[in-house]
Amino acid sequence: MTDSTEATETFAPPPEFAAAANVKEDAYERGAADFEGFWAEQSRDLVDWNEDFTEVLDWSNPPFAKWFADGKLNVAYNCLDRHVLAGNGDRVAINFEGEPGDSRSLTYAELLAEVSKAANMLTELGVEAGDRVAIYLPMIPEAVISMLACARLGAAHSVVFGGFSADALRSRIIDAEARVVITADGSYRRGKETSLKPAVDEALSHGDTPVESVLVVRRTGQDVDMTEGRDQWWHDTVDNASPEHEAEFFDAENPLFILYTSGTTGKPKGILHTSGGYLTQVLYTMKAVFDAKPETDVFWCTADVGWVTGHSYVAYGPLAAGMTQVIYEGTPDTPDQGRWWEIVEKNKVTTLYAAPTAIRTFMKWGEDIPAKYDLTSLRLLGSVGEPINPEAWRWYHRVIGGGRCPIVDTWWQTETGSHMIAPLPGVLATKPGSAQRPIPGISVDVVDETGEHPAGPEGGLLVIRQPWPSMLRGIWKDPERFKETYWSRFEDTYFAGDGARRDEDGDIWFLGRVDDVMNVSGHRLSTAEIESALVAHPSVAEAAVVGAADDTSGQAVIAFVIVVDGVENSPEVAEELRQHVGKEIGPIAKPKRVHIVSELPKTRSGKIMRRLLKDVAENRAVGDSTTLADSSVMELIEASVAKS
Ligand code: ATP
Ligand code: MG
Repeated sequence: MTDSTEATETFAPPPEFAAAANVKEDAYERGAADFEGFWAEQSRDLVDWNEDFTEVLDWSNPPFAKWFADGKLNVAYNCLDRHVLAGNGDRVAINFEGEPGDSRSLTYAELLAEVSKAANMLTELGVEAGDRVAIYLPMIPEAVISMLACARLGAAHSVVFGGFSADALRSRIIDAEARVVITADGSYRRGKETSLKPAVDEALSHGDTPVESVLVVRRTGQDVDMTEGRDQWWHDTVDNASPEHEAEFFDAENPLFILYTSGTTGKPKGILHTSGGYLTQVLYTMKAVFDAKPETDVFWCTADVGWVTGHSYVAYGPLAAGMTQVIYEGTPDTPDQGRWWEIVEKNKVTTLYAAPTAIRTFMKWGEDIPAKYDLTSLRLLGSVGEPINPEAWRWYHRVIGGGRCPIVDTWWQTETGSHMIAPLPGVLATKPGSAQRPIPGISVDVVDETGEHPAGPEGGLLVIRQPWPSMLRGIWKDPERFKETYWSRFEDTYFAGDGARRDEDGDIWFLGRVDDVMNVSGHRLSTAEIESALVAHPSVAEAAVVGAADDTSGQAVIAFVIVVDGVENSPEVAEELRQHVGKEIGPIAKPKRVHIVSELPKTRSGKIMRRLLKDVAENRAVGDSTTLADSSVMELIEASVAKS
């Protein structure tokens, strides 16, 4: 389906990059020859175990895996103490950039002291190993400090996006049975103060949660109600606690966190992750995929801690790897559209990890904005969250990466805990739009509907053949849903829910969610390919396509597009875009209707929620939209569809 020039165009790693890369080609063979031995070796190499493990993988009761089960470790010790003990206490761990322009820098020694204080305070509030703590914070250092403080105590955190409603917070608190909530008065977004504490008050007002205590970080200084006996200020308590805290060591399978999925395809699931295996694969991917060089790199993962990318590649990965990282509180257009690039220039960021939705937004704003900044510190770029359109990939490579930075397109899920499919940047020549190959030690396949045969060139279903260290250990309190969702379609094989195909080089291309794959007159069509064709048109900034029920063809392709500034919403433009898809992919893929809209429905993590657009296309009331970033967009879209 894809234009063959796209499939063959590759970018070899720059020779200096390849020569200095942490992981070389032989890792693939070693990972394939003996995956358990491979992961045991990585774990002993990268993780500080207080007690070594004797068994690598226990798969005696699939799909419930145990990794390194009789080993003992402390995840926070791995992120902090060991770096300080190794003499790197003065290295900056976090460079925080607040949206209004304030900044704050914490060395590893300082971060260890802050985490110790928070751990002491949580202990005072009665938190013990095995408990759960809900974290409802903006992107400020206290978010990471709180997560690490829980990890240090062996208590699991459940981070809830600061943008979620009181109801979403309440249901997650109840599901996880959290006894403490850590929040803030508010934060700065888009140049304004937003508030968080009122949502906590509302979530707890029904009296049906197990929450006993609320810790409140003062970020904006706005007025908040404090409930006597329940609420305490962070600065009155944590700041006065002792900065000494001796880490205890816990079993490798001790729960580390519960995190609810984005809800792109349905009701969010409470995904459970544990300690030793998770940390192993997070650290290995820092080393192999991000080519982490802790002495010289400055790492910036732009994800919020409210989704899995912010867990693995803000809170745990960079710190466990001993890196200096940037955390930014606000939006990319505050105070102006150059904010990200100003942060890159100021902090000399070497490694930038972002989502395709952000890249498409920057494309729409125009390349003269990043051109005003010095981006030459960058050496590696990453993408996550959705398939990256080849057009967006090329722009990212050329405009942001100056043509010299490899791009790692990383496919993974909340459930997988860390990267699963991504190029090793010093080894593979990268391909715009393809996530390419499973990382060493991971075995994936693309199979047909029966699961028995490899899928043909048109693609099929992505499955994972063997357990992996950072795999989810289940859905919180719902083992049946865990089995049913991921392990019932094919025996002892993990069903990811994503459509994919392999090209002639064996490289993997993601086609979209299996639920979203369209069937037009018996032809299977991929959302990702049609969207990429639309985005490649100069008039289009963003696109989403869905298959809507159709009397003649079974399903019809319906496209929703945002046009670039200066292009009008006219029937002529819509018709031109229809023809463009027909020409690029084939007449069968030509959308039946193209709706030009001003917004697309996205989750907080920037993923397009096609199921809501499908509701519009099929003239239904729109379904559950509680995880939408902006709940008003559906009305805007329905209004513009009604007009066109
Ligand atoms: P839910 O499961 O509740 O619908 P979700 O799947 O959106 O939510 P996440 O776990 O945050 O929640 O997202 C994982 C999904 O994101 C993957 O299954 C895949 O569809 C998509 N994805 C992530 N990274 C990539 C990538 N590099 N290329 C293609 N798709 C990606
Ligand atoms: Mg999912």
